[in-house]
Amino acid sequence: MTLLDGKALSQKIEIGVGIGVKELKSRTGSVPGLAVVLVGQDPASAAYVNMKKKACDRVGFYSVTHEMPEDISQEAIENTIVMMNKNPNIDGILIQLPLPKQIDTTKILELVDPSKDVDGFHPYNVGRLATGLNGFVPCTPLGVMELLAEYKIDVKGKNCCVVGASNIVGKPMAALLLNANATVEICHIFTDNLKKHTLNADIILVGVGVINLIKEDMVKEGTIIIDIGINRADNGKLVGDVDYENVSAKCSYITPVPGGVGPMTIAMLLSNTLQAAQINYKEKN
Ligand code: NAD
Repeated sequence: MTLLDGKALSQKIEIGVGIGVKELKSRTGSVPGLAVVLVGQDPASAAYVNMKKKACDRVGFYSVTHEMPEDISQEAIENTIVMMNKNPNIDGILIQLPLPKQIDTTKILELVDPSKDVDGFHPYNVGRLATGLNGFVPCTPLGVMELLAEYKIDVKGKNCCVVGASNIVGKPMAALLLNANATVEICHIFTDNLKKHTLNADIILVGVGVINLIKEDMVKEGTIIIDIGINRADNGKLVGDVDYENVSAKCSYITPVPGGVGPMTIAMLLSNTLQAAQINYKEKN
């Protein structure tokens, strides 16, 4: 069994982004800028935003976090986005999800300028991904594809079982795999007999948020496992959606949690933001 080391690869990608930032700065005098909207006090969201901010600092980006109270109005968030859309120092805009119940998330995501949509959540970029066209791709599934490529795992013709069908993880993951010519199944909460589907898979990619969802008897010998889930176990440790201890012995490759997909997500955010800055600069000149 080989570990798919997302931590090591993300560090390599960060070095590349850092070089890109220096190159852009020497050519244009400006560095990529990322703006983050963080609403409310959710500790997990705050921790993710903090990690993203630190990563921006490491590679030399300009970054700003707009922290807003839980009871913020739709209009106030929209005004902030309009402002960031116009701000020439901002190349990427990230709305930390989930937003509070009173907020229409779809409307907020649709307001982000697609050329600054470094999370790839705007329907324009979602549509481009679905059609196999270039555009911004959600960072987590993009990170998974990079990790597979790093280990020379070609998904073409492979049976891939994506478990979890959210707009930010499962659906874009499935689209990327399909665009790379895999045979893709998407399973979710209403899937009958999940085991029947996972047992047929050469690659299982699970992002659900349920500890130990994927057990030993659901995996055939030699399967590749990508564990996208992040859960806090009773003992306080971070764990994925896979019963790692019992499943890993049966796999050919597996991502650890932590140290697998998580760091890749942040690396892809940096990479998408650098790309946005490079494109924005070209368009301005
Ligand atoms: P979500 O709640 O939006 O979606 C969960 C999906 O899982 C849904 O499609 C649902 O139908 C499915 N599901 C739920 N229970 C199921 C079950 N018992 N069997 C099969 N399918 C089931 O969640 P999300 O935002 O997509 O996040 C999913 C997980 O991925 C979470 O653990 C989250 O923390 C993690 N995540 C990790 C990263 C990363 O960087 N590694 C990034 C984003 C999300």
